[in-house]
Amino acid sequence: MRRARAGCGNLEAVSDEPAEYLRRIAYLLERAHEPTFRVRAFRRAAETLDALSGDELQARSQAGTLMELPGIGEVIARTIDEALAGETPVYLRRLEATGGIPVSEAAAQLRTLLKGDLHTHSDWSDGGSPIEEMARTAAELGHEYMVLTDHSPRLKVANGLSAERLREQLDVVRRVNEEMAPFRLLTGIEVDILEDGTLDQDPELLAELDVVVASVHSKLRMPGEEMTPRMVRAIANPHVDVLGHCTGRIVVGKRGRPESEFDAEIIFAACAKFGVAVEINSLPERLDPPKRLLRLAVEAGCRVSIDTDAHAPGQLEWQYRGCERAAACGVPEETIVNTWAADDLLAWAARAR
Ligand SMILES: [Zn+2]
Ligand SMILES: [Zn+2]
Repeated sequence: MRRARAGCGNLEAVSDEPAEYLRRIAYLLERAHEPTFRVRAFRRAAETLDALSGDELQARSQAGTLMELPGIGEVIARTIDEALAGETPVYLRRLEATGGIPVSEAAAQLRTLLKGDLHTHSDWSDGGSPIEEMARTAAELGHEYMVLTDHSPRLKVANGLSAERLREQLDVVRRVNEEMAPFRLLTGIEVDILEDGTLDQDPELLAELDVVVASVHSKLRMPGEEMTPRMVRAIANPHVDVLGHCTGRIVVGKRGRPESEFDAEIIFAACAKFGVAVEINSLPERLDPPKRLLRLAVEAGCRVSIDTDAHAPGQLEWQYRGCERAAACGVPEETIVNTWAADDLLAWAARAR
């Protein structure tokens, strides 16, 4: 039996031979930049299987002696057993669902609970794709909803939307919703927290939006004594629902960017008090907040949203990274706002303050 697989580079089809599954796993790990030793382990095991007859492999699987073969450990043995039983191996299924990123059981479980994404960009600001394409991809990933959160006017480098352009965008969102129901594209913004803690968009317009993510993008290096009140003022703003990538750190690149300085206890106490969700930003260059702060947010009783901050459709898959961090830091499922159905999410976002 051969099954077509869409969009998988040079391996567009695999047979259900165990060795082919192992090669497919190696390919996906490689594509996700996983360590070479891990990739090689799966390729070597595939070669080991090539040298065996089908009967011998069956016999070993039944006798439970696969792990006596060189280079075959528990995960690979289980993968072979599942393939021989006519199933798509769990490890492969998980990799395919996570864009090749191996994730823990707990993170995979958490990901299945997420019903939407609250932080995404289109080509209206600094994203690479049209609104509709982002929404279609989110729907294909199984999301019930996606919040479109393009940038606000003062973020000129990101082609932030003026009030006028945002109003135009709301018309487009309306049309997309008509076409894509029951999937819901929710209206939103990633609004800049200005230097004095006010927000970079008309309050009436912010009030109209379904979800408001507020983030610091400028003057990230101001002293903590100034950054803390700046952020608290934004958190206390009745329009704000989510605090985006709170430290502003960048963890890749030559220098990266250090975390902004602020009093985390005060910030998270404010988020808890005003019902603002602390975002777990899944972008690999951000992975914000760091785990020590995420644990602090959990202790403070904050709500959390696990978002991608996707700037392209493929990045909408990256919630797994955030799930991994949430699982590692013991974030309770019921506090994750995007595990909620759209109506519950909207009721929370419209909460009286
Ligand atoms: Zn941002
Ligand atoms: Zn963003």
